[in-house]
Amino acid sequence: MSTFHYKRVLIKLSGEVLSGKKEFGIEYSVVTSLAKQIKEIHKEKIEIGIVIGAGNIFRGVSTEEEGMDRVSGDYIGMMGTIMNSVALQNELEKIDCDTRVMSALSIRQLAEPYIRRRATRHLEKFRIVIFAGGTGNPYFTTDTAAALRAIEINADIIIKGTKVDGVYDSDPNINNNAIKHDSLTYKQVIDHELKVMDMTAITLCKENNLPISVIDINRKNNLLNFLISPSKIGTIIK
Ligand code: UDP
Repeated sequence: MSTFHYKRVLIKLSGEVLSGKKEFGIEYSVVTSLAKQIKEIHKEKIEIGIVIGAGNIFRGVSTEEEGMDRVSGDYIGMMGTIMNSVALQNELEKIDCDTRVMSALSIRQLAEPYIRRRATRHLEKFRIVIFAGGTGNPYFTTDTAAALRAIEINADIIIKGTKVDGVYDSDPNINNNAIKHDSLTYKQVIDHELKVMDMTAITLCKENNLPISVIDINRKNNLLNFLISPSKIGTIIK
Protein backbone atom coordinates (compact mmCIF):
# COMPACT_ATOMS: atom_id res chain seq x y z
CA MET A 1 0.00 0.00 0.00
CA SER A 2 1.14 3.54 -0.72
CA THR A 3 2.55 5.63 2.14
CA PHE A 4 -0.02 8.24 1.31
CA HIS A 5 -3.61 8.21 2.41
CA TYR A 6 -5.00 10.26 -0.43
CA LYS A 7 -4.60 10.05 -4.19
CA ARG A 8 -6.28 13.26 -5.32
CA VAL A 9 -6.38 16.31 -3.07
CA LEU A 10 -7.80 19.80 -3.30
CA ILE A 11 -5.66 22.38 -1.52
CA LYS A 12 -7.43 25.57 -0.49
CA LEU A 13 -5.12 28.48 0.23
CA SER A 14 -6.53 31.65 1.73
CA GLY A 15 -5.30 34.85 0.15
CA GLU A 16 -3.75 35.96 3.43
CA VAL A 17 -1.33 33.03 3.32
CA LEU A 18 0.22 34.61 0.22
CA SER A 19 0.70 37.99 1.85
CA GLY A 20 3.09 36.50 4.44
CA LYS A 21 4.23 39.25 6.78
CA LYS A 22 2.89 42.00 4.55
CA GLU A 23 -0.53 43.49 5.23
CA PHE A 24 -1.51 43.43 1.60
CA GLY A 25 -0.59 41.81 -1.70
CA ILE A 26 1.81 38.99 -2.43
CA GLU A 27 5.06 38.22 -0.58
CA TYR A 28 6.94 36.45 -3.27
CA SER A 29 9.15 34.35 -1.02
CA VAL A 30 6.00 32.82 0.46
CA VAL A 31 4.75 31.82 -2.99
CA THR A 32 8.15 30.25 -3.70
CA SER A 33 8.10 28.17 -0.54
CA LEU A 34 4.48 27.14 -1.09
CA ALA A 35 5.37 25.97 -4.59
CA LYS A 36 8.25 23.89 -3.15
CA GLN A 37 5.92 22.23 -0.64
CA ILE A 38 3.43 21.45 -3.37
CA LYS A 39 6.18 19.99 -5.54
CA GLU A 40 7.17 17.62 -2.72
CA ILE A 41 3.77 15.96 -2.82
CA HIS A 42 3.47 16.21 -6.60
CA LYS A 43 6.67 14.13 -6.86
CA GLU A 44 4.82 11.39 -4.99
CA LYS A 45 2.27 11.20 -7.82
CA ILE A 46 -0.52 12.74 -5.82
CA GLU A 47 -2.99 14.56 -8.06
CA ILE A 48 -3.38 18.16 -6.99
CA GLY A 49 -6.09 20.76 -7.50
CA ILE A 50 -5.70 24.17 -5.87
CA VAL A 51 -8.14 26.99 -5.07
CA ILE A 52 -6.73 30.32 -3.90
CA GLY A 53 -8.62 33.12 -2.17
CA ALA A 54 -8.03 36.82 -2.59
CA GLY A 55 -8.30 38.23 0.91
CA ASN A 56 -4.76 39.59 0.42
CA ILE A 57 -6.00 41.72 -2.48
CA PHE A 58 -9.68 42.43 -2.16
CA ARG A 59 -12.85 41.40 -0.33
CA GLY A 60 -16.20 42.39 -1.81
CA VAL A 61 -17.98 42.56 1.50
CA SER A 62 -15.61 45.08 3.11
CA THR A 63 -15.85 47.55 0.23
CA GLU A 64 -19.65 47.32 0.38
CA GLU A 65 -19.38 48.95 3.83
CA GLU A 66 -17.47 51.80 2.21
CA GLY A 67 -20.16 52.32 -0.41
CA MET A 68 -19.08 50.16 -3.34
CA ASP A 69 -21.72 48.05 -5.03
CA ARG A 70 -21.35 44.50 -3.62
CA VAL A 71 -21.51 42.75 -6.96
CA SER A 72 -18.77 44.94 -8.48
CA GLY A 73 -16.65 44.35 -5.38
CA ASP A 74 -17.14 40.61 -5.63
CA TYR A 75 -16.04 40.56 -9.26
CA ILE A 76 -12.90 42.48 -8.30
CA GLY A 77 -12.34 39.83 -5.59
CA MET A 78 -12.72 37.07 -8.17
CA MET A 79 -10.16 38.82 -10.40
CA GLY A 80 -7.86 38.90 -7.37
CA THR A 81 -8.01 35.11 -7.19
CA ILE A 82 -6.84 34.98 -10.81
CA MET A 83 -3.83 37.17 -9.97
CA ASN A 84 -2.88 34.93 -7.05
CA SER A 85 -3.37 31.81 -9.17
CA VAL A 86 -1.10 33.08 -11.95
CA ALA A 87 1.57 34.00 -9.39
CA LEU A 88 1.53 30.47 -7.97
CA GLN A 89 1.45 28.89 -11.43
CA ASN A 90 4.54 30.87 -12.35
CA GLU A 91 6.44 29.59 -9.30
CA LEU A 92 5.33 25.99 -9.85
CA GLU A 93 6.39 26.02 -13.47
CA LYS A 94 9.78 27.49 -12.55
CA ILE A 95 10.43 24.31 -10.60
CA ASP A 96 9.14 22.05 -13.39
CA CYS A 97 5.63 21.32 -12.16
CA ASP A 98 3.27 21.39 -15.11
CA THR A 99 0.41 23.64 -14.04
CA ARG A 100 -2.80 24.87 -15.64
CA VAL A 101 -4.92 27.75 -14.40
CA MET A 102 -8.60 27.18 -15.15
CA SER A 103 -10.86 30.12 -14.48
CA ALA A 104 -14.56 30.34 -13.71
CA LEU A 105 -14.44 33.87 -15.16
CA SER A 106 -13.58 34.12 -18.81
CA ILE A 107 -10.06 35.54 -19.27
CA ARG A 108 -8.86 33.44 -22.13
CA GLN A 109 -5.53 35.14 -22.87
CA LEU A 110 -4.37 34.14 -19.43
CA ALA A 111 -6.25 31.05 -18.29
CA GLU A 112 -8.29 28.19 -19.71
CA PRO A 113 -12.01 28.22 -19.05
CA TYR A 114 -13.05 25.85 -16.30
CA ILE A 115 -14.46 22.69 -17.87
CA ARG A 116 -14.79 19.80 -15.47
CA ARG A 117 -13.86 17.03 -17.89
CA ARG A 118 -10.78 18.90 -19.03
CA ALA A 119 -9.76 19.54 -15.46
CA THR A 120 -9.99 15.84 -14.67
CA ARG A 121 -7.94 15.02 -17.74
CA HIS A 122 -5.20 17.47 -16.67
CA LEU A 123 -5.13 15.83 -13.24
CA GLU A 124 -4.86 12.35 -14.72
CA LYS A 125 -1.85 13.57 -16.69
CA PHE A 126 -0.32 14.78 -13.41
CA ARG A 127 -0.70 18.44 -14.18
CA ILE A 128 -1.47 20.61 -11.21
CA VAL A 129 -4.74 22.47 -11.77
CA ILE A 130 -5.35 25.84 -10.14
CA PHE A 131 -9.03 26.73 -10.14
CA ALA A 132 -9.23 30.52 -10.36
CA GLY A 133 -12.12 32.98 -10.34
CA GLY A 134 -13.88 31.42 -7.32
CA THR A 135 -17.27 30.02 -8.29
CA GLY A 136 -17.63 32.73 -10.95
CA ASN A 137 -20.57 34.19 -9.01
CA PRO A 138 -20.84 37.13 -6.63
CA TYR A 139 -22.01 36.51 -3.02
CA PHE A 140 -19.92 33.34 -2.79
CA THR A 141 -16.52 32.61 -1.31
CA THR A 142 -13.47 30.74 -2.43
CA ASP A 143 -14.17 28.19 0.34
CA THR A 144 -17.38 27.36 -1.47
CA ALA A 145 -15.44 27.23 -4.74
CA ALA A 146 -13.01 24.78 -3.10
CA ALA A 147 -15.84 22.54 -1.89
CA LEU A 148 -17.52 22.66 -5.28
CA ARG A 149 -14.40 21.87 -7.30
CA ALA A 150 -13.29 19.16 -4.86
CA ILE A 151 -16.63 17.41 -5.29
CA GLU A 152 -16.62 17.88 -9.06
CA ILE A 153 -13.15 16.36 -9.48
CA ASN A 154 -13.82 13.63 -6.91
CA ALA A 155 -11.03 14.71 -4.59
CA ASP A 156 -10.41 12.54 -1.52
CA ILE A 157 -10.03 15.50 0.82
CA ILE A 158 -9.87 19.30 1.00
CA ILE A 159 -6.72 20.50 2.72
CA LYS A 160 -7.28 24.00 3.95
CA GLY A 161 -3.89 25.64 4.30
CA THR A 162 -3.97 28.60 6.66
CA LYS A 163 -1.79 30.35 9.19
CA VAL A 164 -3.08 28.36 12.17
CA ASP A 165 -2.40 24.71 12.87
CA GLY A 166 -6.01 23.58 13.22
CA VAL A 167 -9.44 24.47 14.54
CA TYR A 168 -9.61 25.90 18.06
CA ASP A 169 -12.54 26.45 20.41
CA SER A 170 -11.67 30.17 20.37
CA ASP A 171 -9.22 32.39 18.52
CA PRO A 172 -5.67 31.27 19.53
CA ASN A 173 -4.31 34.70 18.55
CA ILE A 174 -6.49 36.32 21.21
CA ASN A 175 -6.93 33.58 23.80
CA ASN A 176 -3.75 31.85 25.05
CA ASN A 177 -5.85 29.07 26.56
CA ALA A 178 -7.66 28.23 23.34
CA ILE A 179 -8.00 24.47 22.92
CA LYS A 180 -7.22 22.79 19.60
CA HIS A 181 -9.47 20.05 18.26
CA ASP A 182 -7.69 17.09 16.61
CA SER A 183 -10.84 15.89 14.90
CA LEU A 184 -14.40 17.08 14.58
CA THR A 185 -17.64 15.96 12.99
CA TYR A 186 -19.51 18.22 10.61
CA LYS A 187 -22.32 18.34 13.18
CA GLN A 188 -19.96 19.72 15.84
CA VAL A 189 -18.70 22.36 13.41
CA ILE A 190 -22.24 23.42 12.54
CA ASP A 191 -23.68 23.27 16.08
CA HIS A 192 -20.81 25.27 17.58
CA GLU A 193 -20.45 27.57 14.58
CA LEU A 194 -16.72 26.83 14.46
CA LYS A 195 -14.79 28.87 11.95
CA VAL A 196 -13.63 26.31 9.42
CA MET A 197 -15.25 27.37 6.17
CA ASP A 198 -18.49 29.19 5.44
CA MET A 199 -21.76 27.32 5.87
CA THR A 200 -22.37 26.71 2.16
CA ALA A 201 -18.97 25.04 1.87
CA ILE A 202 -19.48 22.98 5.04
CA THR A 203 -22.92 21.86 3.89
CA LEU A 204 -21.57 20.81 0.48
CA CYS A 205 -18.78 18.79 2.09
CA LYS A 206 -21.12 17.20 4.62
CA GLU A 207 -23.66 16.17 1.98
CA ASN A 208 -20.92 14.64 -0.16
CA ASN A 209 -18.95 13.01 2.67
CA LEU A 210 -15.87 14.97 1.75
CA PRO A 211 -13.43 15.37 4.65
CA ILE A 212 -11.73 18.69 5.31
CA SER A 213 -8.46 19.19 7.11
CA VAL A 214 -7.09 22.44 8.44
CA ILE A 215 -3.31 22.72 8.59
CA ASP A 216 -0.67 25.41 9.04
CA ILE A 217 0.68 25.67 5.51
CA ASN A 218 3.59 27.93 6.43
CA ARG A 219 5.21 25.27 8.57
CA LYS A 220 7.93 23.50 6.59
CA ASN A 221 6.91 20.15 5.04
CA ASN A 222 3.50 20.24 6.73
CA LEU A 223 1.68 19.29 3.57
CA LEU A 224 3.82 16.19 3.08
CA ASN A 225 3.70 15.35 6.78
CA PHE A 226 -0.05 15.66 6.78
CA LEU A 227 -0.41 13.30 3.84
CA ILE A 228 1.78 10.71 5.58
CA SER A 229 0.15 11.02 9.03
CA PRO A 230 -3.18 12.80 8.66
CA SER A 231 -4.26 12.17 12.25
CA LYS A 232 -1.20 13.91 13.69
CA ILE A 233 -1.33 17.24 11.85
CA GLY A 234 -3.99 19.95 12.14
CA THR A 235 -7.67 19.18 12.54
CA ILE A 236 -9.70 16.74 10.47
CA ILE A 237 -13.42 17.19 9.98
CA LYS A 238 -15.56 14.34 8.66
N1 UDP B 1 -15.62 36.03 -4.50
C1 UDP B 1 -16.87 35.95 -5.10
N2 UDP B 1 -17.32 34.74 -5.54
C2 UDP B 1 -16.63 33.59 -5.38
C3 UDP B 1 -15.36 33.66 -4.73
C4 UDP B 1 -14.88 34.89 -4.32
O1 UDP B 1 -17.52 36.97 -5.27
O2 UDP B 1 -17.09 32.51 -5.80
C5 UDP B 1 -15.06 37.35 -4.10
C6 UDP B 1 -15.63 37.90 -2.81
O3 UDP B 1 -15.72 39.30 -2.92
C7 UDP B 1 -14.57 37.53 -1.80
C8 UDP B 1 -13.30 37.70 -2.60
O4 UDP B 1 -13.66 37.25 -3.92
O5 UDP B 1 -14.59 38.39 -0.69
C9 UDP B 1 -12.11 36.93 -2.09
O6 UDP B 1 -12.44 35.59 -1.80
P1 UDP B 1 -12.38 35.00 -0.31
O7 UDP B 1 -12.90 36.02 0.65
O8 UDP B 1 -13.05 33.66 -0.31
O9 UDP B 1 -10.80 34.83 -0.13
P2 UDP B 1 -9.96 34.26 1.12
O10 UDP B 1 -10.67 34.63 2.39
O11 UDP B 1 -9.89 32.77 0.96
O12 UDP B 1 -8.61 34.89 0.96
